[in-house]
Amino acid sequence: MPSIFSKIIDREIPADIVYEDDICLAFRDINPKAPVHVLVIPKKEIVSLAELSDEDESIVGHCVVALSRIAAQEGLKDGYNMVVNCGEAGGQEVPHLHFHLLGGAKQTLV
Ligand code: ADP
Repeated sequence: MPSIFSKIIDREIPADIVYEDDICLAFRDINPKAPVHVLVIPKKEIVSLAELSDEDESIVGHCVVALSRIAAQEGLKDGYNMVVNCGEAGGQEVPHLHFHLLGGAKQTLV
């Protein structure tokens, strides 16, 4: 299901892109909740963690490895948080799987 993130992938709407490869795209969150707030998304239209199929295993792994490299690129040497909201009860607003990278402010999210 196309969402606003599909439009970012297709360059139909602008975003501050920090990383891209064949599998994933990463861009700065428009409403940052930390000094560094980047969203890493698969280019494949996966709605949420709840919609993953076996073939998505490598895609999810790829996104997490990309997030780790972006964190280093962003200078988050003391640590950071990775957050994934899933579904309505999980507070997911955009129906395209995304990994939040949050860093630059000490915070405990769980
Ligand atoms: P929540 O809004 O509760 O954090 P999500 O986990 O679905 O729910 O996160 C969606 C995120 O996408 C939000 O942090 C929001 O600020 C961000 N966002 C929405 N539209 C855009 C956009 N056009 N460019 C960058 N980030 C966006």
